[in-house]
Amino acid sequence: MPSVEKNIQEINLTIRSVLESNGREVESARLIAVSKKQSVGRIEEALKAGQRVFGENRVQEAYQYWETRRSQYQDVELHLIGPLQTNKVKEAVALFDVIQTLDRAKLAKVLKKEMDKQNKTLPCFIQVNTGEEEQKSGILPNEFAEFYRFCTEECALDVAGLMCIPPAQEPPALHFALLRQLADSAELQELSMGMSHDYERALALGATYVRIGTGVFGAREKG
Ligand SMILES: *Cc1c(COP(=O)(O)O)cnc(C)c1O
Repeated sequence: MPSVEKNIQEINLTIRSVLESNGREVESARLIAVSKKQSVGRIEEALKAGQRVFGENRVQEAYQYWETRRSQYQDVELHLIGPLQTNKVKEAVALFDVIQTLDRAKLAKVLKKEMDKQNKTLPCFIQVNTGEEEQKSGILPNEFAEFYRFCTEECALDVAGLMCIPPAQEPPALHFALLRQLADSAELQELSMGMSHDYERALALGATYVRIGTGVFGAREKG
């Protein structure tokens, strides 16, 4: 079985080569290792291999693993990539460095209030439901302009970019292209798109962060 270290090296090489062949700077996209539901051993392997940017989709679960390791590895950068309930905002702001799932007005208000309280300014990504799927979170593409204005002007949040999770059953390219178009319309630099199976495509279409779980760590544990 390939080791986590080897996976990370290979993915970084692939990222580099896709960026180069698309005429992009070699440092213009970063790997987020999605560590949700992975074993402590595998996460340690990633840290030993030098990986420092990680994604988690649940606040509680992230605490169990990262609360102590954050002090051990001070340069770790932790991204929240799963839905955030307002009653978890306090903990999320305390633990994470980037919130990628800003998706409704209520959350924007609560996040701003909590960041002020904790004297922090975390960069946020607006999650866009590009496939307009009922069960998926994210704002709809046609609500983006107004929501972006609300987040930046009324809530004074630091919106760094956009994030999407395309529908599982569709080719992702149109979704990646739509996300980029929305980001361009607001002059936003960061695009979090692409997972284990489609990150090369996402990089070709402008991703600045790719979120890779199984490709880095192997299959997730059940539950
Ligand atoms: C789990 C998850 C990923 C990683 O998915 P893989 O297919 O394992 O690479 C990426 N983004 C989000 C939002 C996730 O929840």
